Parts: sequence; structure tokens; C-alpha cells
Amino acid sequence: MTSIPERDLIPRGSQRGRLLARGLRRQCPRCGAGDLFPSLLTIHDPCPRCGLVFEREEGYWLGAMIVAFAVIEGLFGLSFVATMLLTWPDVPWTALLIVGLLVTATLPILISPWTRTIWMALDRAFMPAPDQPEPPPRSSA
Ligand SMILES: [Zn+2]
Repeated sequence: MTSIPERDLIPRGSQRGRLLARGLRRQCPRCGAGDLFPSLLTIHDPCPRCGLVFEREEGYWLGAMIVAFAVIEGLFGLSFVATMLLTWPDVPWTALLIVGLLVTATLPILISPWTRTIWMALDRAFMPAPDQPEPPPRSSA
């Protein structure tokens, strides 16, 4: 682990907007370190910069799957309704079905890094874990 400037550390349960911004940028929720994903489906756990253990418990990433489900179903619903409105009464039902199946089968994998970091940010913002002590503030000298 490297020395972390105190301004980069976000205490548990505070600054929810900043936490969510870090999730959207695929960064560690505590220290803001990026480059957490060596590949699309693997994550450096714990954080290589601050040592935060991301997977708190077995089944932890189910929350990331819920985030992915919400994003994908929301996008699908919007595009479905938009296509219907734009093409009525000749709605291309077969094309909608095929595109819908392809998108819902591939998008969860493609957005996996974002859904994981967004889930970690939400989890950290709303359900602080008492089991992981914060690292002591370090001087930048
Ligand atoms: Zn970190």
C-alpha cells in the first residue's frame, strides 16, 4: 500500500455524492484508487492502495447484480417504449425481441466493473461496516 493523502480518504457513511462519483468512475470508494480491474470480470481485492476489502461477505456481489439489473431493465424499457412510439402501428416485434435478448445477455458482462464499484459506493454510503477500521490518516510529507 502507498501513502494516501488525507483528502482522498472518505469516512464511512459520509459524502454520498462523492462516493457515487467514485463508483461511476470505477474507483475505490474509500481512497479513490482507479485501475481496480485487471480484466472485465476480475477485481483487485483488497484495494491495492488502501487495503479496503471489497467483498465483505459471501454473496456480496449480488448487490452489483441488482444494480446491473436495474440499469439494463431501465434501458430496455425506455428503448422498448421509444421504439413502439416511433414505429406504431408497424412495430418490429421480432427485431425488438432479438435486440432485447442480445442486449440483456451481453450488457451485464460489459458493465460489470461499473456495477461493482457503484454497488460498493452505495453499500459504503448507506451500510457502513463496523468490521473494517479506517486506516489512520497519513501525513503527505
Ligand atoms: Zn482504496
